[in-house]
Amino acid sequence: MESVTDSENCGKADIHVHTKFSGFTKYSLAQFPDSISEPDIVVKAAIKKGLEVLCITDHNCIGGALKAQKYARDFPGIEIVIGEEVSTSEGEMIGLFLQERIEPWLGAEETAERIHDQGGIAIAPHPFSPHCPCLGQKVKYLDLDGIEVFNAIHRDPYSNRLASRESMTRGKASIGGSDAHSVEMVGNAYTTFSGSSAEDFRTSILRKNTFFGGEVTSLGACIRWSNGVAMEIGRATYRSLQGKTAQENLIHKRIGRIKKRNKVIGLLGAALYLVPPIPIIAGAIGEFIIRRKARKIWDENSSSSGLQITGENFDKRMVESRKYMNLSSNLGNIPKDVVYGKIKF
Ligand SMILES: [Zn+2]
Repeated sequence: MESVTDSENCGKADIHVHTKFSGFTKYSLAQFPDSISEPDIVVKAAIKKGLEVLCITDHNCIGGALKAQKYARDFPGIEIVIGEEVSTSEGEMIGLFLQERIEPWLGAEETAERIHDQGGIAIAPHPFSPHCPCLGQKVKYLDLDGIEVFNAIHRDPYSNRLASRESMTRGKASIGGSDAHSVEMVGNAYTTFSGSSAEDFRTSILRKNTFFGGEVTSLGACIRWSNGVAMEIGRATYRSLQGKTAQENLIHKRIGRIKKRNKVIGLLGAALYLVPPIPIIAGAIGEFIIRRKARKIWDENSSSSGLQITGENFDKRMVESRKYMNLSSNLGNIPKDVVYGKIKF
């Protein structure tokens, strides 16, 4: 079996990329587009980054992935995998190699089943995230093929480490994904696999013969993403107030539907957000809050006392968990430089 830590002989896949088909995110009182990236521009960025496989994983939608796949037919060097970041009632789960959209808001177990029924691959993205709905300790009991151990937009020093440990102790494939919400973030993290085609990638995951690489997305890139989103909200709202909603544009269409008063508030909010140095201050405060939350999750989950097990097969799970927790404590530290450093294979 080829070593997947040797970039000369292995392929690179970004397993977690969003486009503007991802819809809107609600954070506190604000609602904003998750991504404004056009699927074809995302494909071009992936080619530029040297990826052989690009998985488009919009929230609860495969429309962007299908569009990207159609566009990529003209580029033989890259294959598009139809994916979806599915909102389950217990946290987000990624399905790859899908034929059809997976219904959101089902239980995690049923979602994994439905992914497998289609011949897909089920992955837990950012399982210990401080800012995304995540599966947490449930990854231990779900029928998952891989765990995203390196998510590039998780800039805190805790959540990827917890995920790494789970992947190693549970014998799941170790997966890296950029979770790119903007074009410039595509390929920041990736999964290395034996071979170069999408089918090789699938086989590597099933054989647990994958590794990960890349680097954490910079705070600057996160701020540029939020600026881009604010500008798009401003542009779409301004056009809508003028009665010029572009019906073919999903974001414009959605903004076109909101009340006039809320459009004015949104326009003012977006304009205010763009006044320097507000984006930088907002980015720094956000980073501070997320880091504190991540630390709390680390404290709750990094020792065996963090295990919260309820429900069926309690005894069996407890024994199993203890076994794995002992194993994980023998692992010592997950090398920090591997998870957080710039990795050059
Ligand atoms: Zn995501």
